Order: sequence, then structure tokens, then C-alpha cells
Amino acid sequence: RRIPFVVANWKINKLQSEIAEFLDNVNSKVPSQTVVETGIAAQDLFLADMVRATQDSPIHIVAENVHWEDAGAYTGETSPRALKDIGATYVLIGHFERRKFFNENDSTVNLKVMAALRNGLRPIIDVDEDMSKYAQFMDAEPSVAQVASALAGVSVDQIRNITIAYEPTWAIGSGEAATSEQAQKAAHLIRQTLAKLYSPVIAEQVRILYGGSVTPDNASALLQQPDIDGVLVGTAALDPVKFLELINIAK
Ligand code: 13P
Repeated sequence: RRIPFVVANWKINKLQSEIAEFLDNVNSKVPSQTVVETGIAAQDLFLADMVRATQDSPIHIVAENVHWEDAGAYTGETSPRALKDIGATYVLIGHFERRKFFNENDSTVNLKVMAALRNGLRPIIDVDEDMSKYAQFMDAEPSVAQVASALAGVSVDQIRNITIAYEPTWAIGSGEAATSEQAQKAAHLIRQTLAKLYSPVIAEQVRILYGGSVTPDNASALLQQPDIDGVLVGTAALDPVKFLELINIAK
């Protein structure tokens, strides 16, 4: 059984005091990670404090990006070795906003995935649509090429540490989520891709998340889909009440 996974992505929206208050609020209310795994992604500068604040809680702390070299002269970047050192567990790699605003591409995504794995961090690889197969905008398929290239060089042993998140670009921050049918179809195509790249057995072990305007109102239909193992949530997860609701729906 794949344990459901609820990940908040705060992007650059919260300040120190707001984070402290949020964690105070939710820490003791999050169920054990054998029931549902939970993670919160925030700006690098808050991650170490968040690791300390969640010491007695099952919440995993997630970075939103990582550099592909372990150390060296890369001013302004964050080292995967340093993220591991402060106690971060997961890292988002290849989020649409990084691809769109910061020139991230399939090759840097792959370098980052390998760097994360090499340092004992678990990548949550973000993929969006295949623009070449884009018949009708909102029906576009997830990009199989993004999945395959992100995983180039990832071994059968390492794939267990990978989560894939499908976030259709039109659904991010738009208030318009994919329907559960659309999201299931996309997640299924991603699982078929994993089966081809690895094996059907391995494909069954990898968690696939849906992201894009997830709320407590639409989460239950999404999470009931056979190939959707969790949600990656921006706006709704800024609110502690909604974050806890989403976790309860997922368990
Ligand atoms: P929203 O939930 O605000 O649409 O953001 C989705 C997202 O980008 C999560 O990574």
C-alpha cells in the first residue's frame, strides 16, 4: 500500500512569526506517518527553524529547490548537502514556477534529482503538460518526456525515494482544479511511464501526487482515484485549518 502524502507548498508567502504560529497550531494534530505522510515546503531561510519546531511532530520539512553541486563557488544557491545537514527530508524539483521564471529545464531537473538522491534527500519531481500534444488546453497530457528525463540515471533502488507530482499549469493558483477524471488519467499515464522505464512492480510503489487548486472541497474525489496517492497544495495549505482538513481527507 502506498501511504498517502499531503504536501504544502508555501512558495514565498509566509514570514517567520506566521510559520511559528502555523506549526504551533498543527504540530500535535497531524497523524502518524504510517497513516498519512505530511510535508511542508518553505523558503530555505526558514527550514532549519521549521525542522526544530517539528521535532516532535511527524511533519517533514521540504525545500522548494536545490542546487546540483554539493558544495563550491555557486553564490546564491542552496547545497543539497546543507539541506540534509539541517534535517530537511524532501525537496521539490522542477516546479512549473521554476521552469517558467528561472529557466529550469529537463537537464537541470535531472542534475538536481541526482544531487538530492546522492545526499539522502527525497525528490518530489514536478511535471506539467506535454505542450506538443496539446489538443485542447485543459485536456493536455502530462509530459512523459519530463518524467523520463528527470529520472535518467535513477537506479531501481533509488526510485523508491522518488515522488512524482503532476501539476497542470492552468490549474496552478487558478482556482480551477483538474477534474478527478483528468487527474486520474494523467497519474495513470505517469504510472505507465514508470512501468516502461522500470517495471510494473516498481511503478506500483512510486507515489504520484496531483497539484493545482486543491482544496478541502475537491480533495476527496481526487484522492479516491486509484493512481493518485496524495496532493501538493499551494494556496489552501497556507491556512492551518484547511491543511489539517486535507490531511484528514487523505488518511
Ligand atoms: P495552488 O494550490 O495554489 O494552485 O498551487 C499549487 C502548487 O503550485 C503547489 O506546488
